[in-house]
Amino acid sequence: MSKRIAIIGGGYLGAELAKSLDDTADITLIEPRSHFVHTPSMIRALVDPTLIDRSLIPYDKLLKNGQVISARATGIDEVVVSLDNGTRVEADYIVVATGSSNATPFKPVGNDIEGLRQANRQIHDQLMAARSIGIVGAGAVGTELAGEIAHAMHDKKITLISDTDRLFPTMPDKLGNELAKKLRDAGVTLHLGNRAENLQSMTKPYAGSLKLSDGSEHEFDLILPVLGSRASSELLENLPGAAKSTANRIKVDDWLRPSSLSNVFAAGDVADAGDGMTIVAISRQLPWLSAMLKGLVAGKELGHTKRYKPWGPKAPILVPLGPKRGNSFMSLFTAGDFLTRKMKGEGLFITKYNKLLNRS
Ligand SMILES: Cc1cc2nc3c(=O)[nH]c(=O)nc-3n(C[C@H](O)[C@H](O)[C@H](O)COP(=O)(O)OP(=O)(O)OC[C@H]3O[C@@H](n4cnc5c(N)ncnc54)[C@H](O)[C@@H]3O)c2cc1C
Repeated sequence: MSKRIAIIGGGYLGAELAKSLDDTADITLIEPRSHFVHTPSMIRALVDPTLIDRSLIPYDKLLKNGQVISARATGIDEVVVSLDNGTRVEADYIVVATGSSNATPFKPVGNDIEGLRQANRQIHDQLMAARSIGIVGAGAVGTELAGEIAHAMHDKKITLISDTDRLFPTMPDKLGNELAKKLRDAGVTLHLGNRAENLQSMTKPYAGSLKLSDGSEHEFDLILPVLGSRASSELLENLPGAAKSTANRIKVDDWLRPSSLSNVFAAGDVADAGDGMTIVAISRQLPWLSAMLKGLVAGKELGHTKRYKPWGPKAPILVPLGPKRGNSFMSLFTAGDFLTRKMKGEGLFITKYNKLLNRS
């Protein structure tokens, strides 16, 4: 009988892992959302809502042999996943890939795909009507958002606020400096090293005033908080030996195990394997995890598999500022407009992920 693998969460990690193992084992993907959410294009979708349809991709064609169960996992032990519909899925191996939540309108709240569509339309309308826009948080999402709005809507007064002294402080200086220069050239005001003291919401856009740590106050027609991802780790946090790290993530060992249960694995945003909370990190974890599970299915012992090694400080990052400009760190060098546009800015990987889900 072929081995049963239950994968909990069909985001970047879970969906691609399920597909890569579909011919190898008996796969059950447990995912409560009707659609895969392609986050890189959700930023541009705020200025161009026509992108929404191809950024929310139905799961119905993902697997040929295995099944996708539309339910939320509520508990796991070594061999069983309990679901919110009262049923149980038995498995030889369990992979938890429950990912993370983020601000509206970039990821759905729970399973609410229709709510995400509506939030995209509503905030797009608010953006169109707004003259002054404050973006709080200058990670990749905040920086890209400032660049997308500046590119598509020339009449807006955009302010990007970050408590770090420069953009992308953990990366080589050139990346942050060039992005900051391009944003300023496009008319964006940067308040760096400055914390917003009185944010009314950490996750939802609103109109109001912001008091910054330098004492200044600023009125905005629209404030967009983009303060980073928070892991959805409820299923893992009470497993024996599980330990939390930053952003609610759960630490995993060198074989991506979050607890003392030897056949339960975790990867992607929920798992702290030493990588960032990015698709780039997943692009490294996926082939390792897929090969490791294929080995286990074929009878290999886990101890004979090479340990997973995270990217470390050389993890690449691609930061478009709209479809034409941007900068990227490519592990060995910093790339400018041309490469950033070709690799990500033009197409935002929308075609790649529609193909992954077997959509034209
Ligand atoms: C706006 C935005 C843009 C981004 N752009 C980029 C980019 O350009 N490049 C990059 O590298 N990274 C980017 N990221 C980060 C990237 O989106 C995340 O790293 C990625 O989504 C993580 O994938 P994942 O599979 O771990 O989790 P997720 O994509 O969060 O998927 C988790 C899945 O698990 C499901 N789930 C949760 N709980 C349960 C449960 N109890 N039972 C069953 N299913 C459950 C959810 O419904 C969800 O479908 C971006 C993030 C945002 C917010």
